[in-house]
Amino acid sequence: MIPAAFEYFSPQSVKEAIGLLEKHGDDAKILAGGHSLLPIMKLRLAQPKVIVDIGRISGLSGIKADGQKVAIGALATHDAIERDAVLKEKCPLLAETAAVIGDMQVRNRGTIGGSAAHADPAADYPAALLALGAEIVATGPKGTRTIPAGEFFVEMLTTALKPTEIITELRVPVLARGTGAAYQKHPHPASGYAVVGVAAVVTLSGGKCKSAAIGVTGVAGKPYRATAVEKALTGQSLDEATVAKAAAHAAEGVDPQGDLYASGQFRAHLASVYTKRAVLLAASRAK
Ligand SMILES: Cc1cc2nc3c(=O)[nH]c(=O)nc-3n(C[C@H](O)[C@H](O)[C@H](O)COP(=O)(O)OP(=O)(O)OC[C@H]3O[C@@H](n4cnc5c(N)ncnc54)[C@H](O)[C@@H]3O)c2cc1C
Repeated sequence: MIPAAFEYFSPQSVKEAIGLLEKHGDDAKILAGGHSLLPIMKLRLAQPKVIVDIGRISGLSGIKADGQKVAIGALATHDAIERDAVLKEKCPLLAETAAVIGDMQVRNRGTIGGSAAHADPAADYPAALLALGAEIVATGPKGTRTIPAGEFFVEMLTTALKPTEIITELRVPVLARGTGAAYQKHPHPASGYAVVGVAAVVTLSGGKCKSAAIGVTGVAGKPYRATAVEKALTGQSLDEATVAKAAAHAAEGVDPQGDLYASGQFRAHLASVYTKRAVLLAASRAK
């Protein structure tokens, strides 16, 4: 349980951190809250020779409204996101999701940038980021680019980030009037990670579903949008029977993964159950 030896750097700016990533290439790893990286280093599943600790770079942890978006610094902790007044008012789905991550120690140290970059298939945020159509802002040697959440999560533990890029910000939309959102999760009893987690963003108009976005985590190797459910909900009145029928498609088109705790079949079943719950709750909030 002791990590392999490594060299430690504590850059004071994003530019300095990127310079270190360029210099050390595959030998280097960014450290943020350490709550995913340190456990795998202790198990020696990762043995970076160089650690670039971005935790002391100022200006990367703020949360602020910016027009029709809320901009969240990559170093914002889960706890800060759970408690933030701007997010609670303008995009409560993210605060609700942060509140059910791990335990208090994890929420105090873990960061949204670290969670997104790690791309654990059982992490909670990815479901919400997908349903919200969030943007991930990455800064590298050539400047800054914006990656839509739908293109960011490539496969298990793999994202669209380049090795010399750092997530500096995430941007989520301000939810409009008539839109409701909810995150519902079946937590693993030991770790708290999502066995299945479903984020729903539902917009109602004239008593019917104008649009629905459903993000699912935990079921497959990477988080996904349940597009078959979205299609089945659009244009419908969201009564319990209609939502249950649509939610039955929650694992359509994906390959549900099994492990010692939950088989793929059970995960697919849970995906339907939690999709139904998330959609009904989101719809009730949209009213
Ligand atoms: C006991 C326990 C329970 C947990 N339960 C849950 C849970 O229920 N739900 C959940 O979602 N998560 C859970 N987690 C994971 C937790 O949320 C982590 O904090 C999070 O996954 C990683 O964030 P971090 O800041 O700790 O990143 P780190 O561990 O520091 O880094 C993780 C990875 O991301 C990279 N990285 C970090 N920041 C950046 C950045 N800004 N740009 C580019 N790359 C970056 C690192 O190089 C590393 O590869 C749990 C963790 C523990 C230890």
